[in-house]
Amino acid sequence: MNGFRNKLFRFLEGRYGMRGISDSVQIVICCVYLLLVLVNVFARSRIISALLLCMLGYTLFRVLSKNIPARENEDRVVREWLFRMRDAFQNQSRQAEIRKGERAARKEKRAVEKERRKDKEHIYRECPKCGATLRLPRKKGKHSVLCPRCGNKFGVTIAHAYKHDFRGILSASALLKSSSIRKD
Ligand SMILES: [Zn+2]
Repeated sequence: MNGFRNKLFRFLEGRYGMRGISDSVQIVICCVYLLLVLVNVFARSRIISALLLCMLGYTLFRVLSKNIPARENEDRVVREWLFRMRDAFQNQSRQAEIRKGERAARKEKRAVEKERRKDKEHIYRECPKCGATLRLPRKKGKHSVLCPRCGNKFGVTIAHAYKHDFRGILSASALLKSSSIRKD
């Protein structure tokens, strides 16, 4: 047994060998191999079987290869490719996150604008100095506004004052009256 071990050791001396996780080519081939074995359980394809055999052959060739710099170069190329893929994936998910945030912000802005359009008793103006949005009572005329955040004073002109419009309610009560009259 010891003799066999020594022979094996001498045989593998100076060869690339099995490097496990420190060789990216072996990792990629191992992953693809397992995936294809799983696929072939269902597909039973001769092409996949041939491909699996080729992968085994190539792995054996690399393990026994004495051209260690060439194999290490392959490892470096595949490693860089894996890192680039990871970076691209991370970049893509980051971009998606940013787009999601922008969509949410636009939705929020639309909701705020809708709410402000409904508010007939106030107008909304941005302070020209600090950008704060100020809610001001809708009173017709020229006003001087003091920003509570930065103390900036600026002029605001409001063209139309807000008037309570009871016409809708009045006509409804008038209708109610006339129908009750008709009933009597
Ligand atoms: Zn301000």
